[in-house]
Amino acid sequence: MSYKVTLLPGDGIGPEVAAAMRKCVDATGVKVEWEEHLVGEHAIAKFGTPLPDGVLESVRRNMVAIKGPIATPIGKGFRSVNVQLRQALDLFACVRPCKFYEGTKCKYPEVDLMIFRENTEDLYAGIEFDINTEEAKELIAKINSLQPRQIREDSAISIKPISIFASRRIVKYAFDYAVKHNRKKVTAIHKANIMKFSDGLFLRTAREVAQEYAGKVEFQDVIVDNMCMQLVQKPELYDVLVLPNLYGDIVSDLCAGLVGGLGIAPGANFGNDIALFEPVHGSAPKYAGQNKVNPTATILSSVLMLHHLKENKAADRLENAVKAVLREGKDVTYDLKKDRNDPTAVGTQEMADAICRKLKS
Ligand code: NAD
Repeated sequence: MSYKVTLLPGDGIGPEVAAAMRKCVDATGVKVEWEEHLVGEHAIAKFGTPLPDGVLESVRRNMVAIKGPIATPIGKGFRSVNVQLRQALDLFACVRPCKFYEGTKCKYPEVDLMIFRENTEDLYAGIEFDINTEEAKELIAKINSLQPRQIREDSAISIKPISIFASRRIVKYAFDYAVKHNRKKVTAIHKANIMKFSDGLFLRTAREVAQEYAGKVEFQDVIVDNMCMQLVQKPELYDVLVLPNLYGDIVSDLCAGLVGGLGIAPGANFGNDIALFEPVHGSAPKYAGQNKVNPTATILSSVLMLHHLKENKAADRLENAVKAVLREGKDVTYDLKKDRNDPTAVGTQEMADAICRKLKS
């Protein structure tokens, strides 16, 4: 059987890690017809837009996509293509596994976390009003008339919508995963002590969903700041985490740090029918074009993709090949060496070649 997969190499280090991933997937023997599309800066240069129309059409048609990171200008310029993709395709569940691999800088061999981040709303909904715009002025006047806490006139506003619908579906997704994969505990993370309505609604909804799984999966909730401390001190106490969008983004980078860095942290975004796989890391522009960065996060994202395609044997073989290369610690990139300046570190493509050799041995 052959699969059509949309491939979005992205920008910065994206094309390098995507090429490394592609040769590893091809080396498993699974037949993939890659439908490659430019996005981000490369698409702007060629088509004048970071997200050309054909991209969404291709992902909708193939229903499976894998991408490299895409840069987003900070505080100005075009809106995040990543956020646009997640919203346009209703990829509501961002799933990020964080587990120990021997040979990495992970200090916690017991860590095995699954993070479920709500992907469509919260402060990432993209509803913002810039300082001094008519809309911002109108909104500020309206809000000031509705309640006593006055917003200063020289403010910009970002809106944080949290709905029962979106909270329920991400919490259910986390619980269903827990049941299917024999996980013991789901922890909902929030700041409902301060944001009593938005985070409060997320928490209330999570508690209601948890009741439907009572006796099957344990449930607890933890305030996000406390959670960050707990994760650094005793991550082994946690199992499945479910979070609104912003906390999910931040906590999953923290967890990537726990297991040895962004270079080895994979991810996936799921909707009802469509799945988009991608590393947790960004486009690391200072390393672009140097064949230097670690391709593992993107290769492990393709392992998630192979499982999604029900190519479980190929997925396990590829993960085992990655594990073997990490364990040996020889053909690995600079970030996996004890000393980052170790001259024996290999490049992105050479590490992928070593993984391909393991697959064939
Ligand atoms: P980043 O993840 O790109 O890089 C932070 C640091 O992490 C790098 O300097 C590097 O030291 C390390 N790192 C990242 N990937 C690595 C790899 N594969 N191997 C080894 N080390 C690696 O984060 P940033 O600098 O905050 O963001 C850069 C750009 O990426 C921004 O434009 C941001 O918007 C974008 N971004 C995109 C995505 C995405 O496409 N999903 C995710 C995060 C950030």
